[in-house]
Amino acid sequence: MSHQPEVIPDPFEFARRGSSLGGELDACSLPRLAESLCDVGAEQGVRYTLSGFVRDDKFFLDVKASANLTMQCQRCLGNVSCLVEADSRLLLVPRNEELPDEGLEEDDFDPIHAGHDLDVSGTIEEELLLALPLAPTHENCSMPAAQENGDERSPFAALKGLKPRG
Ligand SMILES: [Zn+2]
Repeated sequence: MSHQPEVIPDPFEFARRGSSLGGELDACSLPRLAESLCDVGAEQGVRYTLSGFVRDDKFFLDVKASANLTMQCQRCLGNVSCLVEADSRLLLVPRNEELPDEGLEEDDFDPIHAGHDLDVSGTIEEELLLALPLAPTHENCSMPAAQENGDERSPFAALKGLKPRG
């Protein structure tokens, strides 16, 4: 996964042809995304696809990306693996045109300025950043106290016994 970051030379042509491309890249190689990740000493693979199409004379790019990313749990500060999935529709707007001000109720896509050499990994990074959990936590944190003392000393174990049955 150490190949050069790809570009789409002409994203409008890409959309007009209904082209698509996909692959895998390392989340740790995306500098802004890497800031939010724990260093696990290994690559954190992102699978992605980009597909272009034209609808109503508008040029679109569908961006899908999926990754298991290791972040810091905001409760116990340990590592937590988060499934992060991005699924976005981008409206490609030439740089010399204004971005449309779409009504919110019809907003099923995000307009972006696009020119030549669209940066594939940068686009993936942008969408993954938007999809990151704000406060990642384990579903069930193992608190250090419970680990050291065993279940019978944990106040939660005592509470469990008081739960009414049925
Ligand atoms: Zn935790």
